[in-house]
Amino acid sequence: MRLSRILVLAACATGLVLTQTRQAQDEEYARLVKEWTTSPQFMSPLVDHLPKAPGVPSPKDLLGYYIGAPKKLTRTAEIGKYYRALAAASKRVKVLTTGTTDEGRECLVAVIADEDTIRNLDTYKGYLAKLADPRGLSAEQAKQIISQAKPVYFFTGGLHSAETGPPEMLMELAYRIAVEDTPLYDSIRKNVIVMVNAASEPDGRDRYVDWYYKYKLSEEGENDRTPGPPYWGKYIFHDNNRDINYSQVTMSNWLKFYLEWHPPIMHDLHESQPLLYTFSGQSPQNPTLDPILYGEMPWFAQFEMTKMLGYGMPGVWTHAFVDMWSPGYLGFMSSNHNGILRMYETFGNGGANTMRRTIGGAGGPGAPDAPPPAEPPAAGRGARGGTATAEAAPDAAAAGGRGGRGGGFAAREWYRPLPPPRDLLWSMRNNTNYMESAVLAGLELTAGFPKTVLENFYLKSRNSIEAGAKEAPYGYVFPANQKDLTRVAFIVNVLRKQGIEIGQANAEFKIAGTTYPAGSLVLKRNQPYGRLAKILLEKQNFPTDAQTTYDDTGWTMGLMSQAKVDEIADKSILDVPVKNIDLYDPPGSVAGSGPVTAILHNGSNHLVTLRYRLKDLAFDALEAPAKAGNIELPAGTLLVASSPRVAAEVQKLGLQAVAMTSAPDVKKHAVDLPRLAVYSTWGSTQDLGWVRYALDKFEVNYDLIYKERVKKGNLRASYDVVLIPSQGGRGGGAKGLIFDVDPKPGKTFAYTKDPAFPTLGVYGESEDITGGMGLQGVGEFDKFVNDGGLLITLGAASYFAPQTFITKTVDAAPTTAAFYAPGPIVEAEILQQNHPIFYGYTEKVLPVRWAGGPLLRVPADEQRRSVLMRYPGTDRSVLSGLMRGVAETRLRPAIIDEPVGQGRVLIFSTNPAYRWQNLGEFNMLANAILHFNDLPKPTPAPAANQAGN
Ligand SMILES: [Zn+2]
Repeated sequence: MRLSRILVLAACATGLVLTQTRQAQDEEYARLVKEWTTSPQFMSPLVDHLPKAPGVPSPKDLLGYYIGAPKKLTRTAEIGKYYRALAAASKRVKVLTTGTTDEGRECLVAVIADEDTIRNLDTYKGYLAKLADPRGLSAEQAKQIISQAKPVYFFTGGLHSAETGPPEMLMELAYRIAVEDTPLYDSIRKNVIVMVNAASEPDGRDRYVDWYYKYKLSEEGENDRTPGPPYWGKYIFHDNNRDINYSQVTMSNWLKFYLEWHPPIMHDLHESQPLLYTFSGQSPQNPTLDPILYGEMPWFAQFEMTKMLGYGMPGVWTHAFVDMWSPGYLGFMSSNHNGILRMYETFGNGGANTMRRTIGGAGGPGAPDAPPPAEPPAAGRGARGGTATAEAAPDAAAAGGRGGRGGGFAAREWYRPLPPPRDLLWSMRNNTNYMESAVLAGLELTAGFPKTVLENFYLKSRNSIEAGAKEAPYGYVFPANQKDLTRVAFIVNVLRKQGIEIGQANAEFKIAGTTYPAGSLVLKRNQPYGRLAKILLEKQNFPTDAQTTYDDTGWTMGLMSQAKVDEIADKSILDVPVKNIDLYDPPGSVAGSGPVTAILHNGSNHLVTLRYRLKDLAFDALEAPAKAGNIELPAGTLLVASSPRVAAEVQKLGLQAVAMTSAPDVKKHAVDLPRLAVYSTWGSTQDLGWVRYALDKFEVNYDLIYKERVKKGNLRASYDVVLIPSQGGRGGGAKGLIFDVDPKPGKTFAYTKDPAFPTLGVYGESEDITGGMGLQGVGEFDKFVNDGGLLITLGAASYFAPQTFITKTVDAAPTTAAFYAPGPIVEAEILQQNHPIFYGYTEKVLPVRWAGGPLLRVPADEQRRSVLMRYPGTDRSVLSGLMRGVAETRLRPAIIDEPVGQGRVLIFSTNPAYRWQNLGEFNMLANAILHFNDLPKPTPAPAANQAGN
């Protein structure tokens, strides 16, 4: 029998306690969901039914299909339309937006709570802001606020576009929370403010859905998987979850939203592990974060696992995947800001098809279309069962380990009491059932203990402030007397974006014997996000007992930017008078007067921007240092005819210049701009995306080319320089770069403009993305170099020239299986200081990020002339993070400049444009571009070496 909603309300009004819903139910939903769930063990009583609510649209009412329906995925415009319809119909729902993406899609959040809470949302927002920054609150006042406040629980889904389930599930969850009338939902609505986003990466979501409908609808199992789309967002794939500096506009939008609403809990939903992994925050843990967090994470994870076991749902586990070392994952914005981080991995099929799956089988359990990893799986990777999953980002150095523990995914372990069946038929609805049931457990726990969550949120914020007042380091100083302040500005503005307060001293001050000039910036640690500041700026001492980690072990911002940041152990830093700044934008200046302006090369990445902005003007570069009055002009200083336009750009870009009557009398060369191409495979566009991003940010012009252009031939007619950023795959070496995406006999995968699939064919087009450049492409690159072109390869792509014999004397080999170095920062020694790529560098030894590139070798007689930089490779030269087996790198070349025919190859085993982090290295790449036709002729090898032949 069905009761109408009016009857339910009447029953409530008479005080009858309802333990079971008496709302009208959608019987078709129950029937179909049961049908789509491939086995009763994959169902819970929370999601086997869906109430009807007159006047309030369910997802089916708007989309035309139920969530979890086979072969149905929803684009972001429709998801947004659904949330807006829900908000229009229900006083328990509100829609918020926070900016737009690279491609103009909106970043949308739906808020669900009881009617009264939604009406007073700003009041609750205000409470959370006070708890997030409790300075000036007495304990009594905090208690008072906690008694009135409610926690925001923020769900994010669809960060990784191949992980298609969460944005679907969240629509059903939102509807359910808005309409279902049982004590569980009453409690959630009353005690929690639930937020869900439409998709964390809206551009990628839509592109993936287009690609899915075009190519993936017919996939039936793990063995007939087809390639994924070459792009998700504009620049990067999985690394949108490694964007530690929030460079990408969409990720930056989410951080802004977080810092506006201060959700004490943020829960990021992923899909790469069977059947549901709930993250409990295991080691290695960042020791600077509050111990309370490490109590909260397993508290939630265990509760969810307990509830799911109660439903008899197998394959729910915790503890043994990912860890709490790197702060760079998107969801960590919550733990970095004193909230609770939550994260799931569920089991996705990379679309919405029902598939037979084998857990721990050769194909691996993850989403099917991860780009191939750029490097051979290093030691420790096997612990995860050798999976190639959407989570397994193709980062070279991070490939080792991944923080996996235990063997396989179908084994019974203490943290997996009820393992999943090894072979199973798996559907999108199963995946939805798992996610939705478990997040409802998380919400049940939050609704049961909202005050504990709020109190802890307050305590963590307060503890962070107190830690900065009680424990060294008490702060950091960014001295104003550094020659290049643009890289200081980069660091300061990233920290500001993270909500960290920084002040500027308007007078000179002295700390621990050092005098800092007026204008220096001061970061005091006694602030709500003081612990985050320490995490980002300190040296990373990776715990030696920890076996592996999921991502980078080092990220120290000062080292990455090669800017001076002083860590201060003297408490008096807290008393230095400063004025808090919003943004740091040090203006440039032009000293003196005269017809020639010299723009000093102090290592700023803005110098290349200036050259490109003024591309119509003629520039010279000094090849040796000179003087203008008492101003030092370093080698690489640019000379240009003085004009107001030049002066204005120098100002805007924060550069230092001096105008003079005539050019200094030292050797110089014209700074021409090359016709530059950036080569991309179709299957591994991510590391390359970071290079594109950096070139775009610094306004360097280039063509993005693919195998299609290379195979056409005669590259030299179009380009002076071809840059091959780090990319590859297929177990390392050059093979991945050359053969790229496996062809599928009888099938082509066009990535071309198509009115039916409007997100495809952007950032390049291909009639078939499979097959790679092949040996034909190798031949074209060989010709390009021999005909006088400059080929630059970075990181993993630096196997290319040695392994294809384009360079005949350079060898490239991988590190051994015992070597383990997930992104540490290490020393590199410049051997040819006068080489143009080192313009702007004053030190002989530099910090560089270990990029997992090849171990290079040249014959002893070549060493002297072609190796520009090398790794000292001693324990002392590991500056931050972990490198196990450092001796393997001892005296290995880091950068080689090798002449070939009329041209040359610049081989970087480093990656000077890594994830918008190592901006101190980017200048080497910028110099290579600016001085492409003025690289010195290599010294001929000494005759003695020829004699023996
Ligand atoms: Zn993911």
